[in-house]
Amino acid sequence: MSETFSDRLNTVEQRIAAACEKAGRARESVRLLAVSKTKPPEAVREAADCGVRLFGENKVQEAQIKIPLCPPHLEWHLIGHLQSNKAKIAANLFNMIHSVDSLKLLEALEAHAPKTLPVLFQVNVSGEASKSGMCPGEVAELINAVNQMAKVEVHGLMTIPPFTPDPEKARVHFTKLRELRDQLQEQTGTPLPELSMGMSHDLEIAIEEGSTWVRIGTDLFGGRG
Ligand SMILES: *Cc1c(COP(=O)(O)O)cnc(C)c1O
Repeated sequence: MSETFSDRLNTVEQRIAAACEKAGRARESVRLLAVSKTKPPEAVREAADCGVRLFGENKVQEAQIKIPLCPPHLEWHLIGHLQSNKAKIAANLFNMIHSVDSLKLLEALEAHAPKTLPVLFQVNVSGEASKSGMCPGEVAELINAVNQMAKVEVHGLMTIPPFTPDPEKARVHFTKLRELRDQLQEQTGTPLPELSMGMSHDLEIAIEEGSTWVRIGTDLFGGRG
């Protein structure tokens, strides 16, 4: 790939802007999370030099090694599955966790968070057996639980749809997450403004369906081999 990070960032930014325009949304309503998993600190530094401040990692152990080697003042989000026994490390390492999927994990994060910790609840809206995330029917109970907690705050929902080569096929899952969010806000009275959905190949569809966080790895950093 002869393009620079800056070229790839421009292309992704243009796609986000075009999708916002098509959907009649303000560009500021969608945040770009640069998914740096498997990439070295040098790649993060190059991205930071281009003005990127928000980074996503999917493994606690990898992030624990990488983050101290990266420029300071970046924001780090965990987007991969988190085991309760790593909650303490994660709560101290990340600014936000997109992948909370159980009460046990929620309780472990509350026990160990050094300060306010925003989280998203990962929901398996497709019902696909291999995907992690809670069932749609479980979310209301966890919202009620988190509302009793002092440090952990739920800001919205996240999903990873099953991969399909045609991104249009992901739309139904993004729509379901948005509708579930609307219904839960009504049911629990808890504001859930954030929807973390959309990756490199389907960010346009996710933005049309209301995404506020697109998580982009491949189209920013190149393939992961
Ligand atoms: C790797 C990953 C991404 C980024 O995927 P790309 O297709 O490389 O953009 C987004 N979200 C999660 C949860 C991931 O694990």
